[in-house]
Amino acid sequence: METINYYHPKKKFGQHFLKEHTVIETIVNSARINATQEVIEIGPGLGILTDALYKTAKHVTAIEIDAELSKKLRNRYNSISNVSIICSDILTFKLDAFTKEIGEYIVVANLPYYIGTTIIQKFLELTHKPKRLIIMLQKEVAESITTSKKNKNNTFLSNYVQYFGNAQIIAIIPPESFQPVPKVDSAIVKIDISQDRNVQILEDSENNFFSFIRMGFSAPRKQLRNVFSKATNIPAFEIETLLNNGGFNSKNRAGNLSLKEWVELYEFAKVHKWTL
Ligand code: SAM
Repeated sequence: METINYYHPKKKFGQHFLKEHTVIETIVNSARINATQEVIEIGPGLGILTDALYKTAKHVTAIEIDAELSKKLRNRYNSISNVSIICSDILTFKLDAFTKEIGEYIVVANLPYYIGTTIIQKFLELTHKPKRLIIMLQKEVAESITTSKKNKNNTFLSNYVQYFGNAQIIAIIPPESFQPVPKVDSAIVKIDISQDRNVQILEDSENNFFSFIRMGFSAPRKQLRNVFSKATNIPAFEIETLLNNGGFNSKNRAGNLSLKEWVELYEFAKVHKWTL
């Protein structure tokens, strides 16, 4: 197999290549891939993860934006029948059509930090969702999406992820594990997608529920009574009374609510016919 031994990293594609084999082992072990499962790898780079993934998976489809790297990867894997290299931007790639054609699959991605959360959302929106995602994120972003308790740090994405499954940080990875060395710490995050939802949304589509939460997070620093007052045109004091009578703390901010509380608030808003 041809090694990609010289490559000048391109900043515009956020190229920081993994060089620590222990990190690769951690990623592959937490992916728990078996021989019947497909893998979608995003941003294979020099192929360091691909090398470990194709040995356990039924097939690896590696999607790389960089045409120069894609060519080198094709040469490298041309004799490996269960690796396909697609040169494409994952942000525009037709994932829905592609994933409908494959069986159970796992996503593995060590991507530029700025597209990590978009990718998670893109996969969770699919009709045929992955069984699991293993994704390298900037440490702070990883912490923000794995928060699921009632505290100050929940985000729209942490609620969204928790609705579909469970997210956990597997390991914190220091900058020295990459070449070139990034400025920030990273974290490997595992998201297991469950068939059964963690909470039930009654009589409505999931989309309405997510729009409701998204609206709550439209002004994350504002108290919910003010956010909903603006959205419904009902005076803040009325919303406050309603919320307090309903057992909600109207002074809460969006980030204070757990997913379960969002469901309760959503059902409450429906009962009171809030038009948002
Ligand atoms: N997976 C390799 C590793 O661990 O060494 C490379 C990691 S590097 C942080 C990110 C990789 O994602 C690069 O190969 C880069 O070219 C690729 N990439 C960046 N943006 C992309 C996009 N929008 N779609 C597909 N690949 C992308």
